[in-house]
Amino acid sequence: MTIADPFAALHPPTTIGMLGGGQLGRYAVMAARTMGYRTIVVDPDPSAPAAAVADDHLCTAYDDPAALRRLELDCDVVTTEFENPPAAALARLAETTRVAPSPAAVSIAQDRAAEKAFLVDNGFPVAPFAVLDDHGAVVDPSLVAGGAIVKTARLGYDGKGQRRVDDIAAVDAAWAQLGGVPCVVESLLDLETELSVIVARTADGRTTNWPVAENTHVDGILDVSIVPANVPADVVDRAEGLAMAVADALDYVGVLAVEMFVVADGHLVVNELAPRPHNSGHWTLDASVTSQFEQQIRAVCGVGLGATTMTSGGVAMVNLLGDLWGPDEPTWVDALDDPTAKLHLYGKVDARPGRKMGHITVRSSNAAEATRRALALRAAR
Ligand code: ATP
Ligand code: MG
Repeated sequence: MTIADPFAALHPPTTIGMLGGGQLGRYAVMAARTMGYRTIVVDPDPSAPAAAVADDHLCTAYDDPAALRRLELDCDVVTTEFENPPAAALARLAETTRVAPSPAAVSIAQDRAAEKAFLVDNGFPVAPFAVLDDHGAVVDPSLVAGGAIVKTARLGYDGKGQRRVDDIAAVDAAWAQLGGVPCVVESLLDLETELSVIVARTADGRTTNWPVAENTHVDGILDVSIVPANVPADVVDRAEGLAMAVADALDYVGVLAVEMFVVADGHLVVNELAPRPHNSGHWTLDASVTSQFEQQIRAVCGVGLGATTMTSGGVAMVNLLGDLWGPDEPTWVDALDDPTAKLHLYGKVDARPGRKMGHITVRSSNAAEATRRALALRAAR
């Protein structure tokens, strides 16, 4: 089998394969269905959120040869909703099938060391860092003098796989605690705020991006995203330019999120890349002409990209973590009663602390008012 023209527009009812069946996949599958595409989700979890809405669910490992064969035969394009599908599985699929984003782009974004090397090689700003691939890696003391974070190179998310350290001795201890796996250690920066820019790009190089989001994290987990970001216009322009340049440098196809730190004097530092729709773009479901999920489907299929214009003056999205669940399921009466709010629950059965169970989006004429109301609706649960 050879790959058909990678630039060809794939129209409905083309079948789209999705590696991963979490909430991001669920929204993408819903968007695909709305437009008349068919979908096949691969996820080993029988209760994967996306499985409930896909045409078919292959409930098996991401690298199961039989599942990959099925995708090859039945799908015109395969995409992913998380960064950790086995690189070998993606590469194998890409021999015969359109895969977007490319295995090369995903393998960069799934490994912090590779990601930092890519960013540095292409002249993008990153925090001072060192790679720890062996115990005893020599780290310049100046890197940790003001505090640092040791992060596993692979499989970290929501602040998992990270340890804060204050001196060189602690770096070794943190590395050992993290299992002695490859890590990066990066200087703790003094953050003015955090931004993310979500970009969609087609194989033939058409791009769109949404207005920049400003993000607040609690314990390494995204808590609140607001749009428009409360930063000067020139910071917004530079953030958007940076994200577009990263997408071009990766020859990226699909939706890419670029997480950034704003440090002293409005300088921007790229934190990390997510090769998929992003939690900080969930507001686009309710306050943008085109959601990030619809755009993912459009971009990987190479059809027209939708408008990314906001439909309200301001918007706020607050995450609902499993910590909010007590012995009784929250009823969210206030959120459901507020005509400006949208309640999203992902259908997850097990409400563990720190697990993303859903989110609330509030639209208003301005982001500050939207944030105030969204926080109140969450607190009322
Ligand atoms: P997520 O899955 O939410 O993106 P993650 O586990 O991939 O998180 P990071 O994005 O690397 O982890 O870090 C999580 C948060 O920790 C950042 O958004 C930021 O608030 C804080 N953080 C990470 N690195 C640094 C740093 N070098 N200096 C200051 N704060 C940092
Ligand atoms: Mg992050």
